[in-house]
Amino acid sequence: MSVLVLAEHRKGELREITLEMLSLGDRIAKQNSLQLCVLLLGADKDFVDILKPLCDRIILINSDELKNYSPEPYVKAIKSALTAINPSLILTAHSALGMDLAPALSEELSLPLVTDCVDVKLENKKIITLRQIYGGKIFSELTLKSFNTYLVSIRPGSFEPAQDLGRSATITEIPFETEVFEKRRFLEYIEEKIEDIDITTADILVSIGRGIGKPENIPIVQEFTDEIGAVLSCSRPVADKGWLPKSRQVGTSGKIVRPKIYIALGISGAFQHQIGMKNSKTIIAVNKDPKAPIFNIAHYGVVADMFQVIPLLKEKLKK
Ligand SMILES: Cc1cc2nc3c(=O)[nH]c(=O)nc-3n(C[C@H](O)[C@H](O)[C@H](O)COP(=O)(O)OP(=O)(O)OC[C@H]3O[C@@H](n4cnc5c(N)ncnc54)[C@H](O)[C@@H]3O)c2cc1C
Repeated sequence: MSVLVLAEHRKGELREITLEMLSLGDRIAKQNSLQLCVLLLGADKDFVDILKPLCDRIILINSDELKNYSPEPYVKAIKSALTAINPSLILTAHSALGMDLAPALSEELSLPLVTDCVDVKLENKKIITLRQIYGGKIFSELTLKSFNTYLVSIRPGSFEPAQDLGRSATITEIPFETEVFEKRRFLEYIEEKIEDIDITTADILVSIGRGIGKPENIPIVQEFTDEIGAVLSCSRPVADKGWLPKSRQVGTSGKIVRPKIYIALGISGAFQHQIGMKNSKTIIAVNKDPKAPIFNIAHYGVVADMFQVIPLLKEKLKK
């Protein structure tokens, strides 16, 4: 019996969520005396070196059809891997890829699926999952009925990426019988053109949310931003209203940023926003509502009206 992590890679890079899932998988495997396995589809052999100390077994399936994600060949390959191992739990990412793959896999293999989990436990052969609901304000715990194999997708950023776990994986290669996949096929990656400032490269971001109130208030924050040598970014409602360009939006449907300092002004901190900025080195949040979820991840929090705080912050940060 094992925990199986579906490795995710894109454009020749192993995605960090793979290592995050291995942190979780390691904990579950240890607690339940299970093997920790990774399935690598169409992947670079270099990934094996990264993954070897992080799991007990790596299953490789290689074929041109698997180099880039496409649901049909992926489902077929995963199905064939499951004949080689019998996992109690399959972990996949709640990423663009995982959101497409997991339901197809659940349907094809008749597996119970819980999506977008921030924690998972396996106790007495039952899976308990933790999810956030109501924009991250409430956690919901689900205990699933006993089942042979569960499929769970993990929200990126929920676990620290695994570093050397002291394991030493064996490698199993499984052949892939190629066929013509007609429904969908990968053509190319199209990168979004950055016509505006690239907020992902800024050291300091000042980010505004709906708390800005009206577009006429933006120059107040822009002036503050310029004075401290920062770049202005925003939450989704600000971009949706067209007050700032979409390229400035931070979050799941915007950009993932990791500046040295992230100043969130009038942003509640919905999980879609948090995913985009929670790995910033220092997070400073200003919000009128002391219960705003942004304070759960902020290193410094100010419960106040942002327009009163901006002049004070300006003075402090200029020093
Ligand atoms: C599929 C999907 C994808 C999404 N992707 C993203 C995404 O990429 N990025 C993103 O940001 N959101 C995203 N969202 C939206 C997300 O769920 C939230 O609705 C959004 O983040 C809320 O933005 P906000 O914090 O600016 O607004 P609100 O939640 O309305 O919060 C405004 C905050 O401002 C505070 N406030 C008001 N006035 C002041 C003042 N004068 N001074 C100080 N504080 C004040 C309030 O107390 C409140 O906490 C997505 C949603 C979905 C469904």
